[in-house]
Amino acid sequence: MIWYPYEQMKTMKEPYKIIDAEGPYIYTKDQKLLDSVSSWWSNIYGYKHPELTNAIKTQANQFCHVMLGGLTHDPVEKLSDKLAQILPGDLDYCFFSDSGSVSVEVALKMAHQYYVNKGQDKKDVLALTHSYHGDTFRAMEIGDDPDYHFAFKEKNHVFHIDTTIEALEQAFAEHHDTLNCLIVEPLLQGAGGFLMYDVSFLERARELCDEYDVLLIFDEVATGFGRTGNRFVADLVLPDIICLGKALTGGYIGHAATVANHKVFDAFYSDNPDHALMHGPTFMGNALACSVSLAAIELFERDDYMSKIHHLENIAKETMRGFSHESIKEIRIMGGCVCIEVKNPATLKGYQEYAYKKGVFARPFLNFLYTMFPYVLTDEELILILNTMKEWFE
Ligand SMILES: *Cc1c(COP(=O)(O)O)cnc(C)c1O
Repeated sequence: MIWYPYEQMKTMKEPYKIIDAEGPYIYTKDQKLLDSVSSWWSNIYGYKHPELTNAIKTQANQFCHVMLGGLTHDPVEKLSDKLAQILPGDLDYCFFSDSGSVSVEVALKMAHQYYVNKGQDKKDVLALTHSYHGDTFRAMEIGDDPDYHFAFKEKNHVFHIDTTIEALEQAFAEHHDTLNCLIVEPLLQGAGGFLMYDVSFLERARELCDEYDVLLIFDEVATGFGRTGNRFVADLVLPDIICLGKALTGGYIGHAATVANHKVFDAFYSDNPDHALMHGPTFMGNALACSVSLAAIELFERDDYMSKIHHLENIAKETMRGFSHESIKEIRIMGGCVCIEVKNPATLKGYQEYAYKKGVFARPFLNFLYTMFPYVLTDEELILILNTMKEWFE
């Protein structure tokens, strides 16, 4: 049987069985549902997009996958060129992996080994309270092959801070000599509760990282490709390493990229084999994933998805304006994300079934009723999603 994610299997309710999907809609046997979650925030161009589907089909007729160890191919070369071209600054060095969590692991290994290679002892990590960076646990640590993992022996500390400049400055004052990186979900913290914070925090973070020689990592697995109303938050403040996933493939198939700048790459580039990055997911650079990612990025640029996102963000703000209820703690809107945080999680019990009847698929959790909508919605479709959320309180 299937072991479902994040569920108490004994009490979970029956999942909806999907038999077809097109545009922003998913279909059960008896209901047509607007997917207000975009398949965990990844399916931003809608389902069954002819160009994306075609990219996969065309590549599948050549080959679906070859390993990237000792081999290369057009789709992976083109995608790395494309990412280097669209990402700001000198974020040019693309390491591919099969999921967002692994892309974060790779970024953290890069930051750790960056200082090992330079002969500096900087093992600690600074992160944010309420951060979410994936679910992986201990695969490398419990392995017993020092040839692979000698650079990652020592244990480190992780410090968590709130998104205030005061907390940031204090953390750097206390720990700067042992920190190798600050990792953040920039502007929008997703799974930790759709928390939004100001760009001034990131600007100050960039200054402090420069001052104290600490790498700045943006986990844009969720925020990349427009979710905050910016193409990438990296367009506003330049990190040393960026992680991309989720919408990278248009939500078609799992793939992710960890993209480093020249400074980071340079610390690994030497005559010493011990300075190499010892990481290599079996399916990194998968040809189907790279082909569909490339087609997705071309679509994002050609069809000016940023204007679509700005337009939908304005519709969302208009629709939610003035709305309040005694059980609501706060309503937060940014780019393609709307979150109603309630005071008591019991308030949201039964919402999923309610929304289903209205033709909307939603998956609230804890205190958060939210949508991370696909960018192909019409105004009316977005308003239907938001009105369904509002009507729940009436
Ligand atoms: C979803 C997510 C991840 C993990 O990605 P997976 O593909 O599920 O492993 C990492 N970071 C952020 C910010 C995410 O939202």
